[in-house]
Amino acid sequence: MVVALLALTFATFVSPPPAEEVGFTRFVELAEDGNVERITIDEDGRVTGELVDGTPFETVVPTALAQEELLETLLEQDVAIDAQPPAAGWVTALISILPFLLIIGLIVFFVRRAAGGQMSQLQGVGKSKAQVIDEERPDTTFDDVAGYEAVREEVREIIDYLREPERFQRAGARGPGGILLLGPAGTGKTLMARAIAGEADVTFLSASGSEFVEMLVGVGASRVRDLFEKAREKQPSIIFIDELDSVGRKRGGQTTIGSNNEQEQTLNQLLKELDGFDPREGIVIIAATNRPEMLDDALLRPGRFDRQVEVPLPTQKDRVAILGVHVRGKPVDPDLDLETIARGTPGFSGAQLENLVNEAAITAVRDDRTRITQEDFEEARDRIIIGKRQSSDLMRDEERRRVAVHEAGHALIAAVAEHADPVAKVTILPAQRALGTTEQLPLEERRLASEGYLNDTLAVRLGGRVAERVVLDELSSGAANDLAGATELATRMVREFGLSPEMGPVGYSAEDEPGGVPGLHGRPYAEDTQTTIDSEVARILRDAEQRAEGFINDHREVFDQLVERLLDEELVDGADIYELLGRPVPRP
Ligand code: ADP
Ligand code: MG
Ligand code: ZN
Repeated sequence: MVVALLALTFATFVSPPPAEEVGFTRFVELAEDGNVERITIDEDGRVTGELVDGTPFETVVPTALAQEELLETLLEQDVAIDAQPPAAGWVTALISILPFLLIIGLIVFFVRRAAGGQMSQLQGVGKSKAQVIDEERPDTTFDDVAGYEAVREEVREIIDYLREPERFQRAGARGPGGILLLGPAGTGKTLMARAIAGEADVTFLSASGSEFVEMLVGVGASRVRDLFEKAREKQPSIIFIDELDSVGRKRGGQTTIGSNNEQEQTLNQLLKELDGFDPREGIVIIAATNRPEMLDDALLRPGRFDRQVEVPLPTQKDRVAILGVHVRGKPVDPDLDLETIARGTPGFSGAQLENLVNEAAITAVRDDRTRITQEDFEEARDRIIIGKRQSSDLMRDEERRRVAVHEAGHALIAAVAEHADPVAKVTILPAQRALGTTEQLPLEERRLASEGYLNDTLAVRLGGRVAERVVLDELSSGAANDLAGATELATRMVREFGLSPEMGPVGYSAEDEPGGVPGLHGRPYAEDTQTTIDSEVARILRDAEQRAEGFINDHREVFDQLVERLLDEELVDGADIYELLGRPVPRP
């Protein structure tokens, strides 16, 4: 393992080898395996060290997490630990620091034990403001942000402004004020904000909303004040508030005991700063959230965060670009096909893609190879998607057969239904929540779904349950998720997509029924209509079920073979299913 790590390091760079950046989890693994010789930790939790074989490495210890266990491991494995004082330079006396760390570890341990959450909250108050508000000049540029052309276009103007605020001021133009980045976690919102600062070459002051809101009243508000004060001193500058929803939550909603009052005060202070703030100052405020529906309306009023930029999950094209950024400088196989990887990772965020590249590299290292190959990516992807595979040995035989039949049902229908997404892989290995999984790989990214596609999707979804009924003559509780998913889709087909002849060409937008609580907010249609909707949904589902049954009966022989293969091998590739069927593997 270590040799391989070395090999990879050498393949990438000419000697002397620069320190290998390892993830924290990897670092703990290395430490547990007794592979770490010495480490030096600085006040920010940055760790530089050396493996037993002399390989230098770097990592970061998440200081927000308690580290008693890590400390224990390190001590157990006789790792030489050094702490880097803020102003480096004085003697690093290992022996005097070891007991010190041990004592701190013990204190933290007992304090947490004794006082639970309360105490750790109080510890946070002692933190200096400097730790809550991060100040830096990022060297991140747009080269580090892949894809997202539209978003870039939107923020370009902000960069122009920050580069020469005086020009705008002379013309009497106001600055862009508050920009809110909206999007799921890991889509690069923080990255984007830093890139704006990097491109404009301005100070980047960042804080996270959750850090503003502390148990003790008044702390959050004063931190908001500090943040704006600091930004004025350093202008031109960017204020970045991450997780805006934790300060900006709707007021007057359900009360979370204790914190509500504090959160409101913090929010009020933020609103005050946003209003009192001269838009001609060279300051731009960027905030990010992945829960825009939680935000208090007051935050979105003109002059506050009135400009909203959506940062959605990356499209297939974006994913190719993001993968490109992250394989840059890594020793990848020249035949590596990023298009295919991107096609197989719909719904992955930028952060997950980065993780994928990292996992693929780890796979290569494990197998002692110096190049990262396509297979490494596939393996990494499976690991991420299917989660940690536990051995299914413990599953009772009967249950195992039931899962195999259920998954074979999904898989077979995905393979034979004309419009369904082709099956890529089926397994009866238990994943995080499911007992087995069937993976389909869309041939292209869909923006519009045809009626045929929707109906086939329903058949695939119901296929597991149908197979159980046809083959085992008995249903189980295992299909609850499938049923819920199918019912939701069928309901949308009737209510929103106008695909029910009985209903005719009507469509009610999803928002007509907020939170899906009919009656409370009123329905846009009559009671009778609801009855029609219900019966149409039921009809569509029954039709899909019948088609699923037909598919299984028509291909019963292949179906039974597939079940046996699954019981034998636990995982069957989509290509093998097409082979059993005597059909070519669908290609885009
Ligand atoms: P968010 O703030 O939206 O949760 P981050 O900015 O923290 O997401 O993204 C986490 C990581 O994911 C980034 O540091 C980067 O490595 C990767 N990433 C996300 N989006 C992109 C992108 N568009 N291009 C390149 N890398 C990306
Ligand atoms: Mg972020
Ligand atoms: Zn299922």
